[in-house]
Amino acid sequence: MSSEAIQSISVKKLSYFSPYIYCIASEDIASRLKKQSLHITAENYHKSKYQLLIGNIPDILTISKWTGNRVQDRLIARIISKTITTPGLLSRFNLHLDPLCRICNEINDISHILLRCQKYASVRAILWRKLNIVSANITYDVLLSQVLINKNHFLIFVQTLKYFDID
Ligand SMILES: [Zn+2]
Repeated sequence: MSSEAIQSISVKKLSYFSPYIYCIASEDIASRLKKQSLHITAENYHKSKYQLLIGNIPDILTISKWTGNRVQDRLIARIISKTITTPGLLSRFNLHLDPLCRICNEINDISHILLRCQKYASVRAILWRKLNIVSANITYDVLLSQVLINKNHFLIFVQTLKYFDID
């Protein structure tokens, strides 16, 4: 089958299963992170459509060298692109009836889980201390910038993610 034929089939599938667009998009980001370290220049990267999605990440080449494996690559790409599967995200595709966190009554998306959910207050307090985050009220982008500031912060963050209810 030609690659064009395969592509047209994938596009049809995508229209039936729109949430998978997000999964594929983050796969795409993960593979981009890898390619990045080989030969794509940072300038090309900044021109790409993911620039809009991801924002200004300091030194993408460096970050791609920190991830230990494909699972980590994918997880971090989903964190960066805010496409972690959560009730909040699924409800946007009518796949989850209740987008609210049962404890906090806020939209249960990745931003809520990492930044505000009361369920993770103690894990968050430890993580914030390790990442030198002093303000209790930070944005998702500020968290990302602290996480991506160096390899040590990045690894602390990746290791702490297992205490949050995400995959
Ligand atoms: Zn909550």
